Amino acid sequence: MARAEYEYENQEELKYIWYLQISGRGDEYAPVRRIICKGCERVYFTQVHCVKFCYECRFDNIGIKHVRRKNRLAKRENTVCKSCGNTFTPQRVGAVYCSNACRQKAYRERVTDSVSR
Ligand SMILES: [Zn+2]
Ligand SMILES: [Zn+2]
Repeated sequence: MARAEYEYENQEELKYIWYLQISGRGDEYAPVRRIICKGCERVYFTQVHCVKFCYECRFDNIGIKHVRRKNRLAKRENTVCKSCGNTFTPQRVGAVYCSNACRQKAYRERVTDSVSR
């Protein structure tokens, strides 16, 4: 835990050590790996071996959630907006409008309907 926190706060330093190592001058340091986080796809530098997620993604298993969310989003692609008829990828489960504008438009129409009735 302390190690991960240290790395998170010292990314610049790790990046520097990594840079020294790839240019063959980092002998006195523990090996630094440059990874692409499997959760958020950001570059992350770490000396902990077998780490696949950046600090933020590793805690609370956010990384896993990111991956799952991506899979879910892929499944939900091509939902048709109930207001304008465009296809879109919903950002949350059960979304039926492509944008706030469409949602508000639909809401206003509903309100006007019930008033005129
Ligand atoms: Zn991440
Ligand atoms: Zn729409």
